Amino acid sequence: MRKLPRVLVVEDEPAIAELIAVNLRHNGFAPTVVFDGEAAQREVDAVLPDVILLDWMLPGQSGVALARQWRKHERTKPVPILMLTARGDEPDKVQGLDAGADDYITKPFSTQELLARIRAVLRRRAPEIVDDAVTVGDLTLDAATYRVSFRGHELKVGPTEFKLLHFLMKHAERVHTRGTLLDRIWGDHVFIEERTVDVHVKRLRESLGEAAAMVETVRGAGYRLTAQGPTRSAAA
Ligand code: CA
Repeated sequence: MRKLPRVLVVEDEPAIAELIAVNLRHNGFAPTVVFDGEAAQREVDAVLPDVILLDWMLPGQSGVALARQWRKHERTKPVPILMLTARGDEPDKVQGLDAGADDYITKPFSTQELLARIRAVLRRRAPEIVDDAVTVGDLTLDAATYRVSFRGHELKVGPTEFKLLHFLMKHAERVHTRGTLLDRIWGDHVFIEERTVDVHVKRLRESLGEAAAMVETVRGAGYRLTAQGPTRSAAA
């Protein structure tokens, strides 16, 4: 039921790109392959990936230039970038990390190493995608078994509400704007209206029953999940 992590593979050598894509598919990821920077940018504009595998040497714009560009923009800034390089020398790696890459991997690499590195960057930058169980107050969510429970009672939560709740619980007590939630839950703010978030928050509260008050509306700001339950800012 869990949505597969989307991996954008930017690699101009078809054989390598295909090998990576096949391995990702077999290991629970949803890869999209593009061969140059222009196509990569189009893809990122349309659907925000969960992680980007970016080849250093590309026709046209280099991987480093792309990484630098994505780090500059608010929308793409949180997406982990793993650089692929055929060259092993230090100055290049440093340049890649300076450009905002989270990690780099030198070609040729083993599938296991690649998968481990992808999971590691996801764990650091987007833990809700790879971590399994989280508890806030009396509410527990287990992504591995797809279960939500409150004070030991299991709750029925729909797939989108589940993902929304998972994100809110992983980043509890913090206020998230509708825009942030759209990017992080739906992964794409281009085609979905912000009020969609409100609809799913409403459904989530219905599913949570007694725990509904843990999902707070913060006026003019967004939503927050809190262990405190109902608060001071009572509905007017
Ligand atoms: Ca290349």
